[in-house]
Amino acid sequence: YDDRDGKIWLDGKLVEWRDANVHILTHALHYASSVFEGERCYNGKIFKSSEHSARLRRSGELLDMEVPYSVEQINAAKEAVLAANGLTDAYIRAIAFRGAGEDMGVASLNNPVRLAVACWTWGSYYGDAKFKGAKLDIAKWKRPSPETIPSEAKAAGLYMICTMSKHAAQAKGCSDAMMFDYRGYVAEATGANIFFVKDGEVHTPKADCFLNGLTRQTVIGMLRDMQIKVHERHILPEELEGFEQCWLTGTAAEVTPVGQIGDYNFEVGELTKRVSTEYEKLVRA
Ligand code: PMP
Repeated sequence: YDDRDGKIWLDGKLVEWRDANVHILTHALHYASSVFEGERCYNGKIFKSSEHSARLRRSGELLDMEVPYSVEQINAAKEAVLAANGLTDAYIRAIAFRGAGEDMGVASLNNPVRLAVACWTWGSYYGDAKFKGAKLDIAKWKRPSPETIPSEAKAAGLYMICTMSKHAAQAKGCSDAMMFDYRGYVAEATGANIFFVKDGEVHTPKADCFLNGLTRQTVIGMLRDMQIKVHERHILPEELEGFEQCWLTGTAAEVTPVGQIGDYNFEVGELTKRVSTEYEKLVRA
């Protein structure tokens, strides 16, 4: 991804893609002092741009990092980088991080908080899973307690176990992994939230120790508008057997049907297809 043409917005300026570099003593690289956003632009409109910018600032606050740009300025940076790359349908990655500076130990308050925004074309996150359902592994790593990490933040440090879980899943021919939380409840996938269907009602883990995704919140709203009951609750592993349908939600994943989790199978059913279609309509509206 580094050596190519294009522009990246870095600390207030558009720079050449291949020149958007940081120093090796960047604090974030050593201590994960970094928060980011994943967003999508559809037909020239960024879906929930302000909500994503606000979440970026909030994630920063949770890590003692005030992002030195307002929601409006972050929104404008995203628009600028899309225009500079001539893209109307793209994935957008904004990242705020502690740079190199006075501190090169654990503390970093004297190092500048920097912001970069890049965008690129990114199609379906799970390939052809949209039609036949993604195959998920069961991760050995557990989502940690909110007393262990600021689990509400979209922070780089929270992804270490996600990357390891996804590598293990891919080695087994799966697209992703479903993670349990520190208590043993079903939590989410490595970069997407999870939903289940049983007897016409929807069940999704209560977002009390993982990212309460904007797509998750959007889909819950859509389901309630459709008069479908949604239960946000703790889900035990033994319940997996009884669920009929399953899907993942996320900015990159959008609404992706799941066909299999470990030894459990799910059908790509009517409700899954309906939610996926309605979500597509909404983001392109
Ligand atoms: N959980 C994790 C760990 C994620 O990385 C993401 C993607 N940002 C999500 C959930 C879904 O969040 P959103 O719908 O806001 O993209």
